[in-house]
Amino acid sequence: VTGELPQVVDLRLLGACNLRCPFCFGPRHEIGPRNVERFIELVQRLPALGVRAVVITGGEPTLVRALPRLLATAKRAGLRTVLSTNGTRLDRRLDDIAPHLDWVGLPLDADRSERNAIMRPGPARQFDDVVEVIPRIRREHPELRIKLGTVVCALNRDWVVPLADLAAGSLAPDVWKLYQVEASGYARDAWSKLELGDDEFDAVLDRASAAAARHGVPVTAYRRAERSGKYLFVEPNGDAMAVAGTDERVIGNVFADLASVVRVWQRHVDVDRLEGNVAATYPGV
Ligand code: SF4
Repeated sequence: VTGELPQVVDLRLLGACNLRCPFCFGPRHEIGPRNVERFIELVQRLPALGVRAVVITGGEPTLVRALPRLLATAKRAGLRTVLSTNGTRLDRRLDDIAPHLDWVGLPLDADRSERNAIMRPGPARQFDDVVEVIPRIRREHPELRIKLGTVVCALNRDWVVPLADLAAGSLAPDVWKLYQVEASGYARDAWSKLELGDDEFDAVLDRASAAAARHGVPVTAYRRAERSGKYLFVEPNGDAMAVAGTDERVIGNVFADLASVVRVWQRHVDVDRLEGNVAATYPGV
């Protein structure tokens, strides 16, 4: 295969997750990690196609046993690596994966554990896990950079500004990103209780940014209206997916026919928007 792909590609290894967030935008939870070996083959081919970095995501990617091998293969191939995880299983896997990682993305969606559990329901104590693992990362893997992400919706709109002192102050991530909830994936089913308008999102963003600025942490935003063309996802079954308006569109399958995805992706992905988004979310990746 010759030609180019975007400089950054998001690989959704699976849909399965140990949490049940009402706003989940990932693949359906019943989809397991069926194609990990094919993803491992894929990452070896990506640098020759101009890809610079991969974002490994899901579902919850730490549920994948072969995750360290996938990351190590990506690094050996010359890629920069980002892991997007809910953080509940990071403590036990950190030493295996951190050596192969440049960035880790972790979520926190409220200022207190019991409120956060409304956003991130499940058996795990996600709030406590994230609050505990970040200092450990700083201590033991100081070269690993951290993006903290917060989904803002009608459920937690009043809990985000109070989160700023912890999110930007004590935890001191390299970036704090606020995401306006959007009606994709599972969020479609729960939209009536999640929806948050543009003005309401901007109001939260302004106040959270001002609070974070006092701690010197940059805040970046993901607005629903600006989503189009910003990503190229690979789904667990290999489908390449681009974002078109509020929809996600399959543009080919990287396992079945990588060459055809290489041929058509530029019609569906806006390179400047994708690059701008990556530069703000994972600076230097
Ligand atoms: S949003 Fe993330 S953590 Fe929550 S259910 Fe979906 S994949 Fe899991």
